[in-house]
Amino acid sequence: MHTFESLGVGKPTLALLTKHGIITPTPIQDLSLPHVFAGKDVIAQAETGSGKTLSFALPLIEAIDDKAGISALILAPTRELAVQIAHEFDKYSRGKRLTVTAVYGGVAMGPQIKKLQRTQIIVATPGRLLDLLSQRVMSLSAVRHLVLDEADRMLDMGFQPDIEKIVRQVPRERQTLLFSATISKEILQISKKYLNNPEEVRLPSALKPEFLRQTYYQTTPEVKLPLLLHLLKSERDLSIVFCNRKHIARKIAKKLTQQGVQSRALQGDMSQPQRDRTTKEFKEKKFSVLVATDVAARGLHIEDVSHVYNYEIPKDVDSFTHRVGRTARAGRKGEAISLVATEDERKFFKQILFNYSGKIDLKTVEAADLPKLAEVPHQARSTGGRSGTSRGGQQAKSGRQRRFRR
Ligand code: ADP
Ligand code: MG
Repeated sequence: MHTFESLGVGKPTLALLTKHGIITPTPIQDLSLPHVFAGKDVIAQAETGSGKTLSFALPLIEAIDDKAGISALILAPTRELAVQIAHEFDKYSRGKRLTVTAVYGGVAMGPQIKKLQRTQIIVATPGRLLDLLSQRVMSLSAVRHLVLDEADRMLDMGFQPDIEKIVRQVPRERQTLLFSATISKEILQISKKYLNNPEEVRLPSALKPEFLRQTYYQTTPEVKLPLLLHLLKSERDLSIVFCNRKHIARKIAKKLTQQGVQSRALQGDMSQPQRDRTTKEFKEKKFSVLVATDVAARGLHIEDVSHVYNYEIPKDVDSFTHRVGRTARAGRKGEAISLVATEDERKFFKQILFNYSGKIDLKTVEAADLPKLAEVPHQARSTGGRSGTSRGGQQAKSGRQRRFRR
């Protein structure tokens, strides 16, 4: 176990870390910081919320000279993430005269271009950066550190060709770091291509069951919405309801609001300003339920999300892991609830259960339980439905729950 100091974090940054309550490195920081500080290429995998940002930000802050021009380029999948990462750099580099610029689409280029003239660190989404590069208003020829953050998400979002074009403009003589919540074949291919003899650091997702509770409701299509409503009515903190499809997200947000649960949709058809406003108001707790699609919710960092609902079951384990990773962040407790209603969903969910390493409890709620769902529950969510009713030959254990283990 290292300390930030023993790893090479300078006094000014140490003081800033302490001020923000960051005292000891998280496991991924403990494992990756020594390599990153040593200037090596690193591929690092750790779940969302594990502290990957500082794993690259702290060494870069120490390594970068304020007169060196654009020395570090961090690529991130979404504007929200780019802003957050830039903010972290800002926060912990106050002791040095470094300037960091977030570069992302959906806003005027002018101010971004202006700031680029005197910046050492750029945090960019690939699309906008390519725009700027093609206008020749900036160059990457001074870059010595390249970071691909949330690499899995960038690939999912189809940024691979853009990344390729960008990396070609970065000098070969550089340190390259790749961070990702999941490591797939594609990620390994990318790392072979862009990283030089990298150190590999992996902390495969082991969401701690003491922090994250997971429940899987086996139900029917007509019960799904009333059940969701019933569960949400007992919540006080923020909840995110995930849908696979944009129009379903819109519909559910509307229905919930009609039923007295203040909710808003966050989906890909919304303009960037609309998304920003929704995200901001959610963080400010102006409404309590965000109904989101995967793409729209990518990289959201909202600390007080106590519940994540899978209203529609995602089609792959990675999306599931990402969704669930929206809660139980930074040592807080959280609960993830999946509503499985159709044959297809059962199929997908079985796949997830098979591949997912966490523990998930089963409850069954049927049409016969509908009248009970209409009541507003008194306190805990466990009052919901006829827990443990057997269905499809699955006899629930101890009359209540059946535990799934992979
Ligand atoms: P990731 O990129 O792995 O999803 P982040 O880097 O965004 O995670 O960190 C998640 C949260 O944990 C942030 O709020 C961050 O400030 C906090 N954090 C990071 N490192 C530490 C640490 N060593 N001690 C306490 N909190 C930390
Ligand atoms: Mg991150």
